[in-house]
Amino acid sequence: MIQYLSNQNLNNFSGKVCLLRIDLNIEPKLPLDSYRFQAIIPTVQLLLKHNIKLIILSHRGRPVNKEKKLSLNCFIPLFKKYFDTDVVFVSNFQKNLKSKIQNSNKIIFLFENLRFYQGEEKNDINFAKNLSLLGDFYINDAFAVSHRENSSVVAITKFLPSYAGLLLEKEIKNLNKIIKNYKHPFVIIIGGAKISDKIGVIQNFIKKADYFLLGGGPANTFFAAQGIPIGNSLVDNSILGSFIRGSTSKILKLISKEVNSRKIILPSDVKISDRKILDIGERTTQSYNAIIKKSKTIIWNGPMGMFEKKEFENGTFGIWQAIIKNKKANIVIGGGETVASLQKFRIQNPKLKINKNIFISTGGGAMLDYLSGKKLPGIEALKRS
Ligand code: ADP
Ligand code: MG
Repeated sequence: MIQYLSNQNLNNFSGKVCLLRIDLNIEPKLPLDSYRFQAIIPTVQLLLKHNIKLIILSHRGRPVNKEKKLSLNCFIPLFKKYFDTDVVFVSNFQKNLKSKIQNSNKIIFLFENLRFYQGEEKNDINFAKNLSLLGDFYINDAFAVSHRENSSVVAITKFLPSYAGLLLEKEIKNLNKIIKNYKHPFVIIIGGAKISDKIGVIQNFIKKADYFLLGGGPANTFFAAQGIPIGNSLVDNSILGSFIRGSTSKILKLISKEVNSRKIILPSDVKISDRKILDIGERTTQSYNAIIKKSKTIIWNGPMGMFEKKEFENGTFGIWQAIIKNKKANIVIGGGETVASLQKFRIQNPKLKINKNIFISTGGGAMLDYLSGKKLPGIEALKRS
């Protein structure tokens, strides 16, 4: 059983040192990534309020050689600003680190990028042990990394009492709700880059959902599979090859059938530039929006087009408009760029209010895995701990 931080009597933890795994794999420049930074605040505040010292653990990027630009020290100003307290940067393991932390009058310690250590991504037991020696208990509040079998997410739970933080709890509960208690009409919107990342979600919901609305690379891949010329558009060749060869895979056969039956819906018009499809067209946006408007359950991952460019933002922004207008449906949205597109949409619409019926996940791959029905190693580890 997962032990949730929210169920603990935190007075018993007062004066202790918590190893808090969060996700700082974000740009330290606000505001574009502010959503994912803000998501970590409640757990940090709750712990500080109970006089618990924090050693913050995170990775950032894919360092090969401890590149300075991937150090976590760039987050110190952000922590200072949000928590109004000094932050001590811990650049590596040192002698007597735990007692130094215990005896310090500082309360937040930020550990260097975990991926500067080879053990992290190998789920190395010794690395996990060395980390564990710094604290008294462990919290996983990094949903976005919980699909990875890494030391600071999995192996560390063998050494310390381990809990799910407030953010992880919120993610698990909201995603469980949409998996178990969906209502019809149920629509799943899939865009972005690669369809191979998302096929598990289509598979898991193909019988449950009423519509799949496609855009971006996934739509292009289906066009190509049907022999529709798509010029130099982004496609997912790994999947396209299987379609063209007449794949024997059950799911690909089923998907082809559902495209024909119009459960899986492709854009009826697109925006093209330089022989590339770069956005869904206006007619498509309108027909997708009509479906979104009447739906009671909605999942969305992946922008409809290359929204980073002004000429190709309308499809994605049109979907945001319809989603935000639907104040009744249970809505789950996730993915790094999908959430970034919301931030961009909000800059243009500063008065926009996101209602409570919309849950924005901090997970990209982790959310897709969870919604695909896969077990996430970081969550399973908490159950065993
Ligand atoms: P997320 O991070 O939300 O899961 P993905 O990583 O799958 O989404 O894909 C996001 C990227 O896909 C965006 O950067 C966007 O520019 C790009 N994209 C979407 N549609 C297209 C398209 N038609 N052609 C090229 N790139 C696209
Ligand atoms: Mg992405």
